[in-house]
Amino acid sequence: METTASKTDLRDLSINELEQFILSLGEKKFRARQIYKWLYQKRVDDFEQMSNMSKHVRQQLSACCSIQKPEPKYILESKYGDAVKFGFAFNNTSYIIESVLLFDDKRRTACVSSQIGCALGCSFCETAKLGFIRNLTQQEILAQLIGINDYLCSKSDKLVTNVVFMGMGEALSNFANFRKALEVIMHEDGFNLGGRRITVSTAGVIPSIERLINENLNVGLAISLNAWNDKLRDEVMPINKKYNIAQLVKIAKRYFEKTGRRVTFEYVVIDGITNTPGAKKSLSKLLSGFPCKINLIPLNTAGDIKENTVSEDKVLQFSQELHKLGLAATVRKSRGRDIMGACGQLTAYDATTV
Ligand code: SAH
Repeated sequence: METTASKTDLRDLSINELEQFILSLGEKKFRARQIYKWLYQKRVDDFEQMSNMSKHVRQQLSACCSIQKPEPKYILESKYGDAVKFGFAFNNTSYIIESVLLFDDKRRTACVSSQIGCALGCSFCETAKLGFIRNLTQQEILAQLIGINDYLCSKSDKLVTNVVFMGMGEALSNFANFRKALEVIMHEDGFNLGGRRITVSTAGVIPSIERLINENLNVGLAISLNAWNDKLRDEVMPINKKYNIAQLVKIAKRYFEKTGRRVTFEYVVIDGITNTPGAKKSLSKLLSGFPCKINLIPLNTAGDIKENTVSEDKVLQFSQELHKLGLAATVRKSRGRDIMGACGQLTAYDATTV
């Protein structure tokens, strides 16, 4: 249980933990679900606002609990109107954590971070440069959604419709807190979003993918493939030395068999490196013959690779060529580049040094 100055942060509790906690205060169990609604749907940060709780409960709660308010230190709106980047500060760390809101027709997609920094060291990613600092807690993951919903509400817009774990870090390396946050995101008294509206992106942490399958979590899975042979993947994504391409393809097939959901392979197009004629052939061999998708992401300037960005036309052409080879290829729109909010561009600032 996470605590702030010895007080329990309510947003760090699972529904079961909250129920147990409420029972320990001598209150009825159903109060826990009411509190969940206050925390996640009405987004209050003051016990006094919980108007369907008796004064006694409110007093008890405020005596031993806290609710951390997500404070956006900055909000950067893309001039194209389709992306907003948030820098959140939390009261137990000096780091500012970035998340992105993406607008796409009727969708409001929150791209959330799961770690401060990342341990995986992918060469094309800005987050990797930080190294691994620490895992985010359940409430720090959820606070990003609360802050984004506060923003949407202030614009009289609808609330977050989709969540993607594609921000900073590797969510599947922070499985316990990712799993706990997921429970709240999916809970009807929490954010009430179904598995069809949630995607977790992974560099390929296979034991955690097994857990997703075994625990029947029913979320969308995106695997960052990013290379067409092991030699190249070893170079750009060191995790490949542990979990290689053949293992990723195998688990993607199993994911489909067990969940009925097609896995998306994300594939960063690094010009002259990942879109070569050899790449096309290998990809078609690797990914044809079973239901999956390949999502091409034009390289954004980040990490150590500054050259090798690619024109929109070239990516489109590459996707059409993959199509001809029988692959379900799509191109990811690169939103938020002007605010350093596109894929691979998120980072964390130590607020004491900026
Ligand atoms: N750790 C997770 C989430 C990372 S970010 C993962 O590896 O999947 C989400 C996506 O952005 C990943 O597919 C990643 O490969 C991609 N990405 C990282 N850096 C990028 C860059 N510079 N340009 C384009 N996409 C990038």
